Order: sequence, then structure tokens, then C-alpha cells
Amino acid sequence: MSVLVYTENWKGKFRKSTFEAVSYANELAKLLATDVVALSFGEVSDEELNKLGNYGASKVLSVSGINKGDSQQVANIFAKNAADASIIIFASTYTSKMIAPRLSAKLKIGIASNVISLPSSTSPITISRKAFSGKAIEKTIIKTEKAILTLAPNAFGLVECVGSCSIEKINTSENASVLIEGEEITRGKISLAEAEIIVSAGRGLKGAENWGMVEELAELLGAATACSKPVADIGWRPHEEHVGQTGKAVAPNLYIAIGISGAIQHLAGVNSSKVMVVINTDAEAPFFKAADYGIVGDAFQIVPKLIEEIKKAKN
Ligand SMILES: Cc1cc2nc3c(=O)[nH]c(=O)nc-3n(C[C@H](O)[C@H](O)[C@H](O)COP(=O)(O)OP(=O)(O)OC[C@H]3O[C@@H](n4cnc5c(N)ncnc54)[C@H](O)[C@@H]3O)c2cc1C
Repeated sequence: MSVLVYTENWKGKFRKSTFEAVSYANELAKLLATDVVALSFGEVSDEELNKLGNYGASKVLSVSGINKGDSQQVANIFAKNAADASIIIFASTYTSKMIAPRLSAKLKIGIASNVISLPSSTSPITISRKAFSGKAIEKTIIKTEKAILTLAPNAFGLVECVGSCSIEKINTSENASVLIEGEEITRGKISLAEAEIIVSAGRGLKGAENWGMVEELAELLGAATACSKPVADIGWRPHEEHVGQTGKAVAPNLYIAIGISGAIQHLAGVNSSKVMVVINTDAEAPFFKAADYGIVGDAFQIVPKLIEEIKKAKN
């Protein structure tokens, strides 16, 4: 019995969340005295597949000839390759949210999402998971012998190891039920989902015309830009930048929040960030309770100073 891990790629390159899921699977496999098998879908080069070995995968099953945007088809093939798996690991991503529940229903095994640590027991599988938009930690016992776990972003981190993996190619001729003709990134140089740094701003910025400094700061840091919900609702920024409970969930290494109060619905989408820096005039703003670093002050004074200092440091 192995630990099977779903490895998600974007245009043939694995995501950071994938390497985190493999790292987690590896630690879990050590607990169970077994191996990690990785399952990859779509066209991925051997060089890229081999990277999974650096995080603990000992074998990679690489499925090609598939429409990987068709989650039903992916779940069908996944189920056929899961017979030897005792635990199946996913990173919590948009894609895994479509595949993991289908797989759970097909295999009739329990699923726990947003898992934040290794199981405290493996028989029965007992884990801690984020609940209520991250406001509570829930202890979940999975009653089926096998289980599917989806890992909350940044919950475990990347753990590199010295290792190599064998690669087995599987070519499928299974029929797809959905055809995706093409994908086009509509806006932004760096995707929010993959951004290591995000500069985000809220209603404290007073108007769309003031976003120049936010974009300049983001550009200097190689960051993506984001915003609070009301900012997108008013039309100061595009809706695809809206983060939070009803927007995108993000998990960068650094999240800089400028003029955002830190309402629970906003925090729900950003509190998996590794480090949060908050700039706000109101020392009582709720965001300061969640922040790692806080600056009480006017964004219109602080952000230009930050930009100036970063430019100096870069020169
Ligand atoms: C069901 C539901 C779902 C929601 N989902 C989301 C969601 O997904 N994402 C989301 O963001 N919100 C969401 N909201 C809205 C959320 O409750 C807050 O209203 C919203 O996050 C507030 O946005 P804000 O912080 O930009 O604005 P405000 O609450 O108006 O806060 C502005 C902040 O800027 C500060 N400020 C003012 N001037 C300056 C200055 N010059 N320099 C620095 N700081 C300054 C103020 O002190 C204040 O803290 C949701 C609400 C509901 C009911």
C-alpha cells in the first residue's frame, strides 16, 4: 500500500503546491513505512517529472493522451490507478476541488479538506483541518480504512530530499466528456494563485486613480496585485483581483495589505499567507491582530517611502 499524490501542472510545469503535497506525502509515507507514488496528468517532460523525486516520490505514473481539464475523466483514470493506495493526497487547489470529491464518491472512501498537519493517528486516520474559513481547527476522524486528504496551502512547506524516481508512462484512450479548446490569461503578469508576493489594497486608497503606487510597489517586488471585495465591487479594480471568502484564496510567502480593514471575509482568503504585512491608519483595525508586521500610518506617505527605499536597495 502506497501514498498516492496528485501532481498538478500548468503548461507542463509543476506548481509549488504540488511539491508541497509531495513533501507532505513523503512524511506520511515514512509514518506508514511505505512509498510515495505520484500521479501526473497531461504532457510533462521527464526532466520535470524527475523533480518529484527531489520531494520524495519514488515512482511517477505519467498519464498522457488526456484532456486534463475534464475532471470527470481525470477522476476515472485516477480511480483505476488508486487500488494500491492507502492514502491519497491533493493540494487544495481549484482543480483538486473538482477531482478529489469525485474520487471520494467513486472509491467510497472518506475525504478531509484543508488539512494542516500530519495525522495524529493513522488507524483510524485522524487529522486537524481548517474550518469556518480558518477561524477554527477541526479534528476529523476518517472512518473508512483508506482516505483522501487535501492539504491547505503553506500548511506544511517544501521539504527537499535526496532521491530519484522511476517514471511509468500511461497512454489513455478514455473518452472525454468536456473539451477545453484553449486557455488564455486575461490580465496581470503574475497569476494570483502562484504569486510568491502579493501587494493588495482596499478602500483606504480612496479611488482607482491612487493604484499607481500599488502597481509600482508590486512591479518592484515582482508581485501580483490584489484587492478587497468592495474595491472590485465599486469598479476601482477588476474582479479577478478580489481576494477573500467570496473571491480568490491566495497563499503567497508575503502578503502586503494596504488600507484594508481585515474583515473576517477578507482574512478567510489570505490567512494562509506565510508573512502578512499591514499598513493602516487605524491602530485598532482587525488586520493588525492577524498581521506579522504592522505599520500604523497613512498609505499615501508610507508606500512612496517604501518604493523609494526598495529602489535604493536595488541600485
Ligand atoms: C458574505 C460576505 C462575503 C464577503 N466576502 C469578501 C471577500 O471575499 N473579500 C473581501 O475583501 N471582503 C469581503 N466581504 C466584505 C468585508 O466584510 C469587508 O466589508 C471588506 O473586506 C472591507 O474592505 P476594505 O477593508 O477595503 O474597506 P474598509 O472596511 O472600508 O476598510 C478600509 C481600511 O482602510 C484604512 N484606511 C483609510 N485610509 C487609509 C490610509 N490613508 N492609509 C492606510 N489605511 C487607511 C481604514 O482604517 C480601514 O481599516 C464580504 C462580506 C460579506 C457579508
